[in-house]
Amino acid sequence: MFNIENLVRENIRNLSPYSSARDEYKGEAGIFLDANENSFGSASDELHNRYPDPLALELKAQLGLIKDVKASQIFLGNGSDEAIDLLFRIFCNPAKDNVIILPPTYGMYSVSAHINDVKVINVNLKADFILDVDGILNAINENTKLIFLCCPNNPSGTSFKEGEMKTILKNFNGIVVLDEAYIDYSSSKSFISELGNYPNLVILQTFSKAWGMANLRLGIAYASKTIIGLLNKVKSPYNINGLTQQLALKALNNKDRVKTWIDIIIIEREKLIIELLKLPFVIKVYPSEANFILVKMRESGKMYDYLIANKIIVRDRSNVILCEGCLRITIGTEKENSGLIKILKQF
Ligand SMILES: *Cc1c(COP(=O)(O)O)cnc(C)c1O
Repeated sequence: MFNIENLVRENIRNLSPYSSARDEYKGEAGIFLDANENSFGSASDELHNRYPDPLALELKAQLGLIKDVKASQIFLGNGSDEAIDLLFRIFCNPAKDNVIILPPTYGMYSVSAHINDVKVINVNLKADFILDVDGILNAINENTKLIFLCCPNNPSGTSFKEGEMKTILKNFNGIVVLDEAYIDYSSSKSFISELGNYPNLVILQTFSKAWGMANLRLGIAYASKTIIGLLNKVKSPYNINGLTQQLALKALNNKDRVKTWIDIIIIEREKLIIELLKLPFVIKVYPSEANFILVKMRESGKMYDYLIANKIIVRDRSNVILCEGCLRITIGTEKENSGLIKILKQF
């Protein structure tokens, strides 16, 4: 049985969190002499002298409306990376617990594990980046606290079967972290609507990709109210700065623009796949549900250097398991993509 209380580290369960001035008094009008701020103003041209809302409640309310989820089920972090790190700190006892990751996948899961001195159990994906459900379930032991599923997966761009992800959610009494950084480009729908069915589900999304706000460093976790409460308890008090909160609110007003970009990127992705398959040195292009594609080619190392010499930077994934000979290429603008194809044809 999934029991969140037993899963949380004892020191976190017993923690009394820091209480900030803005936690204790939340009103807007008045003479504020509670937080040792500079009441005169800011050294910069714009005013930044007041601490921001520690829980970014206005932003969560707006995001909640768009994503059809309660604000109390949203955590905001300094990038998805902060949410990943906090999950380790909440659930994994250093030098004792372990987590399961499914290579090839996003590098931060294992880096964050090692920073927190948590053991990583690798259960590789099968050929064509399919989940090894039995392998995953067999790898779970009493110290396994987190399983990371990245769907669509980075660097493969492929998605997992919904039913297989649900099998893992149902048969694991720890936390399943489902990273949906690329869900906007996928034909399958987000698991946000499944949160009520799986108390052990944490979904990660981000402002860094479809929203085009990577510079802000704003990541999102969606989960039960209980898990969100734990994340808020452990995070640093003002982890999302006020400028980021303002700019993200502005971005949420422009979701039509984001939708247009998503549509164009998907069209461009399919166009690029067709063009790449015409090239004699391309062995395989994996089907993609993301804003990038993984391309297997002859002489990928040489090709990587050749592209750099032509001022085109892609990601060399040749040394990653199951990705031998593969480059990962982000879908750019129409002009960038045709520029890439033009240079590739001259190889
Ligand atoms: C890009 C990416 C993210 C986003 O990370 P941020 O810290 O929010 O910028 C998360 N997960 C995966 C798999 C990614 O590729």
